[in-house]
Amino acid sequence: MTTWLEGTPSEYVQARGERRWVTGGDKPVVGLDIDGTLGDYHSHFLWFAEQWLGVHMPSASEINPGMPLHKFMGVEHHIYRECKLAYRQGGLKRFMPCYDYAAELTANVRTAGASLWICTTRPYLRLDNIDPDTREWLRRNEIEYDAVIFEGVDGKSKYADLVEQVGVHRISSVTDDLPEQTADAVAQGISTVYLRDQPYNRVQAVTGKRVKSLRELWGQISEDLEVWREFND
Ligand SMILES: [Mg+2]
Repeated sequence: MTTWLEGTPSEYVQARGERRWVTGGDKPVVGLDIDGTLGDYHSHFLWFAEQWLGVHMPSASEINPGMPLHKFMGVEHHIYRECKLAYRQGGLKRFMPCYDYAAELTANVRTAGASLWICTTRPYLRLDNIDPDTREWLRRNEIEYDAVIFEGVDGKSKYADLVEQVGVHRISSVTDDLPEQTADAVAQGISTVYLRDQPYNRVQAVTGKRVKSLRELWGQISEDLEVWREFND
């Protein structure tokens, strides 16, 4: 796992034979994904792909439930992979559009006394500009956070890492745009999982409570944190 920790961890504990960072004491933890949740990745990537491939791309607002992105784009999978690599290597992640209310949401979460963990599947060790580009995007868009979890290099999912690092009982909620990620979050024992509504995730039986905007998400999270306080203070 790869994690940034902002500030000095308050405790470093030995739990059941495994070493675990415990940050923020017993604060509740709110997990947020970046691409497709805090930022408009799909529109930005499709815009880039149209320039890079020199062929017309569909609009990101078109409904494509459950379709792999390369099929939606009408290109073979290896072409899609090359294009995505060019997007990442080109530093495009620095200026991906940020959704309205992202900065306010993250500030509100921390003001409400929760610890905010960014959980992304962006690769950390495979491309050496991912770390600085992600930090720069968060800085530019005034996203507040306590820690960032990247895709696990040990084969674990980002939500498995989050559970391992803070303990499942502390996780108030996580929010993601991908059905496979919300399903994994539930599989890891996370009790409250939100799905950021997107054209590509409007599939039946998708896991997670659907939220259509970051303002709506804050309404849900603030209620969750009030419930948390009632049971934990
Ligand atoms: Mg995402």
